[in-house]
Formats: sequence, structure tokens, C-alpha cells
Amino acid sequence: MKHPPFDSWLFDQESLTADEGEALRQHLAECGECRALAEALGAVEGRMLAAEPVAPEPGFVSRWQLRLAQARAKRKRRQTWLILAATVGGALILAPFAGLLLWSVLSSPTEVALGWLERLQALSVGVQALRGFLTVVVRALQDVNALWWVAMLLGAAWISGLWAGLLYRIAFKTIPNGVSK
Ligand SMILES: [Zn+2]
Repeated sequence: MKHPPFDSWLFDQESLTADEGEALRQHLAECGECRALAEALGAVEGRMLAAEPVAPEPGFVSRWQLRLAQARAKRKRRQTWLILAATVGGALILAPFAGLLLWSVLSSPTEVALGWLERLQALSVGVQALRGFLTVVVRALQDVNALWWVAMLLGAAWISGLWAGLLYRIAFKTIPNGVSK
């Protein structure tokens, strides 16, 4: 049997006003049911207050570390499998194309060979064009006066010397405090 509002007041005695507290005390004096409820509640509260705070079990930290290490190992294994799966998947995707290429070579070797020959021919045409261009350049240079050759060689030597000196200075001529002279 419930006795509102007293039964609910029992659970929240701290927020009662002075009058409500007095009324509750009077009701508890008269009503055995609510008194029994109040006593049971008090017993539970007392046990909760008396209980020791729960300390971590011995070995908790090492178990936690073990679990962390296991989780890491699991993640690593999963990554390894992912990479493997991606590799195999890529190979499976590429396999038909490779097979098709191989099949075309095997089914019509002469055609493929002719195709490559054509490509080689095109390449040799390119090489011939390059050779022709170089021949023209060399001939033009041969037509230049010998004096110009000497002048150009001297110029090239001067520039080379300049560069060599500059590089030598940058590379080796450092004074103890590390600043270039
Ligand atoms: Zn009551």
C-alpha cells in the first residue's frame, strides 16, 4: 500500500521543508508500513556508505597493457591482410588485360611482330632526321673561319676558368668562422 506523499518523501528527505519533515516524522510514528520502508532504506544507505571504494584488482594495469598490445597486433594483422587483399585484387584486375595482351601475341605473332617492326622503322626515321640535323649544324660550323674557332675556344676556356675559380672559392676558401672570403 502506498502513502503519498510520504513514501516519495522518504526517498528525498534532504530536500524536504521543515514542515514536511515534521509531517513525515508524525506519519512514520503512526504508520508501520512507511516506518518499515524507512528502515529498509536506511539500511541500504548505510551499507552503501560503509562499502569500501572499489580498488582496481591486482594486475589490472598489466592486463590493460596486454589488451592494448593485443589490439595493436590485431590492427597490424588487419592492415597486413588489407594490403595483401589490395595486391591480390589489383593482380586480379590486371590479369585479364595481361591475358588479353598475351593472347593477342600468341594468336597472331606475325602481326604483333610487324607492328613492332613498324615502330622500329618510325624510330629509325626519327634517328635519321636527327642525324640530318646534326650534319647541317656540323657543316655550318665547318664553314666558319678558323679564326672564329680559336676565338670561340678561348671564350669557352675563359668561361670555364671563371666557373672553376668560382666553384673552388665557394667550396674551399672558408675562413675559421665559416664565412666565405
Ligand atoms: Zn504510511
